[in-house]
Amino acid sequence: MTNILEACDLHYLYSDGLKALRGLSLGIEEGRKVALVGPNGAGKSTLMLAFNGVIKPTSGEVRFKGVPLKYDPRSLRDVRRKVGMVFQNPDDQLFAPTVCQDVAFGPLNLGYPKEKVERYVDYALSYVGLSGYEDRPPHHLSGGEKRRVAIAGVLAMEPEVMILDEPTSNLDPASAEEIMEMLDELSCGGKTMVVSTHDVELAYRWADEVVLMEGGKLLHRGSASEVFSDPELVLRARVKAPLLLEIYRELSIRRVLNGSNPPKNILELTDIMEAAAKGSEALSKSKADLGCIKVFNVDTDDPSKAEAISKTVDCVGAMGTNAKTIAARKKIPLDFTYGIIDKCILKAIVGKSSLIMTSGGMVEHIFKRIRNYGAEWGREIQVTLE
Ligand code: ADP
Repeated sequence: MTNILEACDLHYLYSDGLKALRGLSLGIEEGRKVALVGPNGAGKSTLMLAFNGVIKPTSGEVRFKGVPLKYDPRSLRDVRRKVGMVFQNPDDQLFAPTVCQDVAFGPLNLGYPKEKVERYVDYALSYVGLSGYEDRPPHHLSGGEKRRVAIAGVLAMEPEVMILDEPTSNLDPASAEEIMEMLDELSCGGKTMVVSTHDVELAYRWADEVVLMEGGKLLHRGSASEVFSDPELVLRARVKAPLLLEIYRELSIRRVLNGSNPPKNILELTDIMEAAAKGSEALSKSKADLGCIKVFNVDTDDPSKAEAISKTVDCVGAMGTNAKTIAARKKIPLDFTYGIIDKCILKAIVGKSSLIMTSGGMVEHIFKRIRNYGAEWGREIQVTLE
């Protein structure tokens, strides 16, 4: 895979003389989900601002698709369109009197014609589930809604890379999960995602790759399980190991588990434990013993059909804002609103059937995840597109 963004030996000195970046080099591969993790002051926000061209490195360079960033107004406009940034505090980003004007600011600034701006704003607001909020003043919205407006403002410029500084800070758990799920959906749509976070649980579950930073430098990068399984690294980066890994490690020390295959999520942990308790052959189950998973595409099908199917299954989940909005409109009670695929697999294992309502972009991802899981664990869960 090629690097879409690169930081090459970046140094950055704030005007008060503080060295925020000290020779940091990092490539971000196209299409990946990358989490920057590290203590306060590690330089994560500064690196993100450098990626987006908001600050110019004191030395070293940032490259987008191999080409060094230039800092004249035209080049900067161009890079900020392709590399969209969502700031940690939405109040730093939202300034227009209405939501619509705020989201339209970017595309208008790019000189797009009025109809195109309207189309992009409609698309972006509907994507983040805020259609109907056009005339509301952003400062009257909740924290989660403000964050969504900020994301819509970036989406309206159709960026290739999205950079989000602490996207879940100050959000309640459900809003935080919904934001992360939205980022997953954008990633499935092909965007490269870079997120900074203190939340190790989130980084562990979500990221393809974790970059540990400390003192303006890169401490280590690797898969989430590799990075968080190293106690020394975890200590140096002043973070903590995700709970799932801690449980796994303790069970491995007690020789309940063999310690060679850290689980990424609850589904994997429960399967590893079941295999340890019963033997891995006992895990394999035929279609007849497993619950089925029905997938419904809300983009192309009549929502009334989903309503009818929902009455024939044991549980229902909705993935993505569009599916959640339609479920609410049709008064379909939802058992799951995040982590849906794994939750439906967990149900299927104990013989329960489920329905996943989702948008077109996610259908393939759902099928792939369930089939890969089946192939790995010898559990052929029946999954159908309704
Ligand atoms: P992180 O996002 O990892 O918390 P930052 O990039 O915000 O780290 O900060 C890196 C260092 O730069 C910190 O020591 C911080 O105090 C300093 N810093 C950040 N912003 C400014 C600024 N505008 N002026 C001076 N120093 C700053």
